[in-house]
Amino acid sequence: MSNRARVSRIMPRDMAATSEVHSRDYWPDAVIHFGGTCAYCGRTLRRGDDLLKSYIMPAAAGGTDEPDNVVPACQDCATSKGATEMKEWYMRQDFFSQERLNRIFSWRYVMRQLMRGETHE
Ligand SMILES: [Zn+2]
Repeated sequence: MSNRARVSRIMPRDMAATSEVHSRDYWPDAVIHFGGTCAYCGRTLRRGDDLLKSYIMPAAAGGTDEPDNVVPACQDCATSKGATEMKEWYMRQDFFSQERLNRIFSWRYVMRQLMRGETHE
């Protein structure tokens, strides 16, 4: 084991700008963004109970439950990933897809824009 898993803990946050974002549940948006499929393996899931919230960055590494860190995953992927950092885990999987990885990053990007209050409604 090396120390390369060290993650930056410097996460500047504008609390005032994010309070409105926090009042909304972005989970349905996340499910739609990934077309109702597992963000990792792409398996189509039934709506509801089979979709689990998977943290891109695990809580142990400083990840939060904010929308930019949460993507829908099937039970198999959520269990397999566990507390591993998403990309580190995902790139080792047989079903790894650059396209789906990009979609995960685009979800994170969109949510970060929202959390910064840079949307124009
Ligand atoms: Zn999956």
